[in-house]
Amino acid sequence: MGIKIVPRHGKNFKDRAYLPAIFGGLKVTFKHFFTNLKDTSNIKTLQYPEEQPKDITPRYRGVHRLTKREDESVRCVACFMCATACPAECIFIEAIEREDGVDEKMPKRFDIDLLECVFCGGCVEACPCDAIRMDTGIFTFVKSKREDFVITKEQLLANEPMKEEK
Ligand code: SF4
Ligand code: SF4
Repeated sequence: MGIKIVPRHGKNFKDRAYLPAIFGGLKVTFKHFFTNLKDTSNIKTLQYPEEQPKDITPRYRGVHRLTKREDESVRCVACFMCATACPAECIFIEAIEREDGVDEKMPKRFDIDLLECVFCGGCVEACPCDAIRMDTGIFTFVKSKREDFVITKEQLLANEPMKEEK
């Protein structure tokens, strides 16, 4: 039938007792335990969330922000390209006419549901005027209610770009 029978290993008493393997594993565990006990500087574990990582790369896709023009007004022209490109359909835009003549439209409402977002960066790629970015470095957001995970235009405009570590 073409079936190959693979012989089962561990037929002798030493293998079947599992004790040498168990002690071998424990030896490695205790070796690391006592080494780290003597010198904690080499421990790679971070005491998260009290301790936050400091080596987030600038390419990291964190919570979004809406960028502003030189006059501090919203750069977004409410073209819906980001919402159209979004695979999670979690961007909700309501457009209004722009009164200041800078452009035709602007968003009256611009919400992103972070619980639906998959942080793919598609919205950033799709935006024709660099109005949305994901460079805030915010990767942790804890809320107690579902609706608090929907970030509004005001919150998006208030988000700042991540500061680089010196
Ligand atoms: S990162 Fe992706 S899923 Fe999240 S809002 Fe942008 S396009 Fe949608
Ligand atoms: S963020 Fe960019 S892509 Fe999205 S509606 Fe505004 S201008 Fe268009």
